[in-house]
Amino acid sequence: MEKKGIAVVAVGGNALIKDKAHKTVEDQFDAAKETMSHIVDMIEKGWDVVITHGNGPQVGFILRRSELARHELHEVPLDYCGADSQGAIGYMFQKALHNEFQRRGLRKDTATVITQTVVSKNDPAFQNPTKPIGSFMDEADAKQRAEKEGWTVVEDAGRGWRRVVPSPIPQTIVEAPVIDTLLKAGIIVVGVGGGGIPVVELEDGTIKGVEAVIDKDFGSSLLAVNLKADLFVISTAVEKVALNFNTPDEVWLDQMTVAEAKQYIAEGHFKPGSMLPKVQAILKYLEAGGKKALITDPEHIGEALDGKTGTWILP
Ligand code: ADP
Ligand code: MG
Repeated sequence: MEKKGIAVVAVGGNALIKDKAHKTVEDQFDAAKETMSHIVDMIEKGWDVVITHGNGPQVGFILRRSELARHELHEVPLDYCGADSQGAIGYMFQKALHNEFQRRGLRKDTATVITQTVVSKNDPAFQNPTKPIGSFMDEADAKQRAEKEGWTVVEDAGRGWRRVVPSPIPQTIVEAPVIDTLLKAGIIVVGVGGGGIPVVELEDGTIKGVEAVIDKDFGSSLLAVNLKADLFVISTAVEKVALNFNTPDEVWLDQMTVAEAKQYIAEGHFKPGSMLPKVQAILKYLEAGGKKALITDPEHIGEALDGKTGTWILP
């Protein structure tokens, strides 16, 4: 098998939840199997792959269960929701990969690395929490939890009250050297789930989990930089990136340079919270010496790698 190099492949929400009617664990595993089969195509072509993933809905489910069981069981802190979801999603991906290797007669091993990502205590996001998490609450409940547990709560456009947490910028990935070692041993790695579990470094060098969330695109980009990856793929729900997305003037892009991407960002073509963080994450990777990056959907990864589709972003 010809060696292609290291690829970090960040899979989006659609690798686990295809639509609102398919959210059960079984449905998630079915979706995972499909996405993993496309990633095995890459592995078969000679790429050493690290798979990263989002975990927003899964963390939401864990939190909701935890809330509903409050009268009987301790609640699950947010960093542990992250860890639980990394473990369960890692299990799904490992099982799907193992079975696909088995079907194709490939001898490959996989491992999931529970990953912690260091953020700065001084990140401005801690002064301005913006990411809503958990269920809607009424005003009384929201204010009580804010008082008792130090939550920041906000009224969400007439729909009720919600807890918001900070989304700081990832600084370092604690387990990056472990992921590197596993890759060099030929192991397919699942890691940096949900961007990693956010931790802060204390004065004595120890780390502590914090109640925050990390953008998975930014966490994946940092990993790609740390590993000096040859390729950074962001797999999401669209085959290509568009200018004037969702308008009559929509133009699908085959390629853009860093300079062009910056201009398109300035012109407001990419939606904050969805496409914008992906393009920004890719710019960070390319500006740190990354070679090439691709945005496409799971089913087009193979064709895109042959240069036939997807949006390629180049230095
Ligand atoms: P993921 O779970 O993969 O992170 P997101 O929903 O966060 O998915 O981001 C992908 C979505 O971004 C696409 O499904 C699309 O609806 C949206 N999007 C926003 N702006 C653009 C754009 N300019 N071109 C293509 N898709 C865009
Ligand atoms: Mg997203």
